[in-house]
Amino acid sequence: MRILFIASEVEGLVKTGGLADVAYALPKELQKMGHDVRIVMPAYRSLNDIWVQWPNRQFSTKISHFKTETVTACYGTHEGLPIIAIDHPASFDRAGIYDDGHSAFYDNPYRFTVLTKAALDWCKLENWQPDIVHANDWQSSLAGFFLNEHYRYDAFFSATRSVLSIHNGAYQMHCDPQWLAQIGIDQRFYNPSDFEDNGHLNLLKGALGFADGVTTVSPGYAAELTTPIGGHGIDFKFRNLNRPIVGILNGCDYDQWDPETDPWLLAQFATADDGGKARCKLGLQQEMGLTVDAKVPLLATICRLVDQKGITYLIPVFKELMAKHRCQVVLLGSGDPLLGAQLDEIQQAFPDRFRFVNGYDAGLSHRIEAGSDAFLMPSIFEPCGLNQIYSLRYGTVPLVREVGGLQDSVCRLSNSQRNLKSATGFMFTDMTEAALLAETLRMLKVYEHKQTQWKAMQRNGMAKRFSWKKSANQYEAFYRLLLAAPKAEHPLAS
Ligand code: ADP
Repeated sequence: MRILFIASEVEGLVKTGGLADVAYALPKELQKMGHDVRIVMPAYRSLNDIWVQWPNRQFSTKISHFKTETVTACYGTHEGLPIIAIDHPASFDRAGIYDDGHSAFYDNPYRFTVLTKAALDWCKLENWQPDIVHANDWQSSLAGFFLNEHYRYDAFFSATRSVLSIHNGAYQMHCDPQWLAQIGIDQRFYNPSDFEDNGHLNLLKGALGFADGVTTVSPGYAAELTTPIGGHGIDFKFRNLNRPIVGILNGCDYDQWDPETDPWLLAQFATADDGGKARCKLGLQQEMGLTVDAKVPLLATICRLVDQKGITYLIPVFKELMAKHRCQVVLLGSGDPLLGAQLDEIQQAFPDRFRFVNGYDAGLSHRIEAGSDAFLMPSIFEPCGLNQIYSLRYGTVPLVREVGGLQDSVCRLSNSQRNLKSATGFMFTDMTEAALLAETLRMLKVYEHKQTQWKAMQRNGMAKRFSWKKSANQYEAFYRLLLAAPKAEHPLAS
């Protein structure tokens, strides 16, 4: 199959979250399976050193009745993957990707429409007829709409089918309806069934109705999106798609996340008790300025500091743990300065037991995964989540909330503790400080008094594999299903 993958970030080139991991690993796996995959992404300023050296081709792309843009496609590869970087200086020659460090760029709807339209027009420029156009998140979500409307009578795309993957349904791009005309959406689609959302233009919501198939990154999240509590305000839209939203759990890139080969670690390890993990723990305590003590339980969290990750109820739990219980905590993250300030306060009160590193640090994230005993991930919602999967591989027992991809990837130690053959972690359900604290204390008890159980869970977790091959097989099967099925018509199609 010819698969055009449109993404606003790609691991190894530019990354803010899980989308980048998928936009690298899935095309890589599909390519290994023999498919012809091309990734189209923006030529951001931060990547200038790379793409300016690539051969390029200039062409024009019609955005709307009012506007045609001249763009340059730069042709390169990233670890063997063909990349087409779309150079459009007015859109992408900026310091930030989505924002200026304080607020989102006001013209984001236009910038990413240029990317999406250029991706489709590039296919025509090169006479490269895609079987599948795979769009990701709101940024490229309009691909399906354009295929259905702008290219409706264009024979070039008549056999092409579109897939829209949701990596985080909370980001939908609500904007002023004045953008409609500028990004080529006809006024008739500004209605409550399509792009209108309480007086705003909602790009993701409208786009969902035009994709031939919609996927998300775990079965759990796919189910939650259709519920009022988990649907980010557009659950009815997820419930009423042409065909049900398909959940495909992300894989893990074990080339990067394997404690046996990880170059970031002080010591590599194949099992949790071969001495390597213990050295990593002492090294981490030293690096973080914590009391060096092999026995004290060391809990960790790595995440963006946003409400989604449950930081607001993690903070009071940290305070309680520091005041009354024997443990240490390391937290690596950046984002909301108010949350950061509260974490700083705890660090000041307990400097030898609590360490907050405010920033983004890939190497440290590997050392934390390797050196900690347990990983806390009490997300309010979690489309898939990666850190709990890394934790399993590193013998770091995850404690997660029963939500989205977390419930699909962690097997809870039952209250009777009899499921020692399969248990890999701890899990709580209620989105409350009390529930998180209770499960954390239960975990600490097992760590302190039931080392046999703890070691069994570490072994179970380390043996688990979340392979991209398996996920890519599921995507491939879904692509084939779409290609075989008749195309659904939108009721307002012209
Ligand atoms: P999300 O996409 O919602 O941020 P995921 O768990 O799916 O959450 O993916 C987050 C990815 O970003 C993981 O690979 C995680 O290790 C990494 N990450 C998040 N914050 C940091 C940080 N401060 N430093 C290093 N890596 C981070």
